[in-house]
Amino acid sequence: TNKPNIVLDVSGVNKSFGGLRALTNVNLQVEEGKVHAIIGPNGAGKSTLLNVCIGRIKPDNGHVVFNGETLDRHQPHEINQLGVSRVFQTPEIFADLNLLENVMIPAFAKRDGAFTFNAIRAVSAEKELREEAEEILHDVGLYERRTHLAGSLSRGDKRRLELGMCLIQKPKLLLLDEPTAGMARHDTNMTIELLKRIKARGMTKVIIEHDMHVVFSLADKISVLAQGTVIAEGLPEEVRGNPRVKEAYLGE
Ligand code: ADP
Ligand code: MG
Repeated sequence: TNKPNIVLDVSGVNKSFGGLRALTNVNLQVEEGKVHAIIGPNGAGKSTLLNVCIGRIKPDNGHVVFNGETLDRHQPHEINQLGVSRVFQTPEIFADLNLLENVMIPAFAKRDGAFTFNAIRAVSAEKELREEAEEILHDVGLYERRTHLAGSLSRGDKRRLELGMCLIQKPKLLLLDEPTAGMARHDTNMTIELLKRIKARGMTKVIIEHDMHVVFSLADKISVLAQGTVIAEGLPEEVRGNPRVKEAYLGE
């Protein structure tokens, strides 16, 4: 039998913030090469789950296993070095550096294990990396503006820049928290096309998404989170008609 390779295995994860239960016994299995969407209403715990996966938030209990390695005691930069990159809900870019420099920095950070000032200084020396960064800026549609300061970009363009900053790390697993949030329809469609091209390269992705058009354009599998619990999972066509899912969205 051909058992699928599980790249990310979340099992029995609980997380409370004070008296608020953000995640209750969450299980999630992400297969290699697939796009796994996590959907659910605002406050469902989607971002918290993503932050648990990258080590920014430690779960109260339960485990996250990436590529066979238990991540319980790993720091975020160590998880990044293992091959996990992420796009946050709020873009985290270097506003005072230009786009090219922004895309180059994560490559150094992955190598050195942190975002250091050495990394920023070393940027100007690396010609080969510069070419790679230019190619990525092409891919994300920002090449023409490569010498502009990142801080000057619109919110949607910052999101695409951050995606480029992930791609240069050539991650095994890419986690995206609402990558089209704040984008107009044209930009959203451009991002869908870009994510489809990445999919063709076989990179495993977990995508948190509110826009159902994006979800059904990209996802191989969907997990639905509501009030910190996975209430449904399966193929897009299975999840689409699920009455529990419809109900969870009604309260929005
Ligand atoms: P989603 O991304 O699905 O909208 P979140 O994971 O951001 O949901 O939040 C889930 C719940 O946990 C919300 O009720 C939110 O207010 C709460 N929460 C998230 N992060 C924190 C935090 N650092 N401290 C306290 N409460 C938090
Ligand atoms: Mg969120």
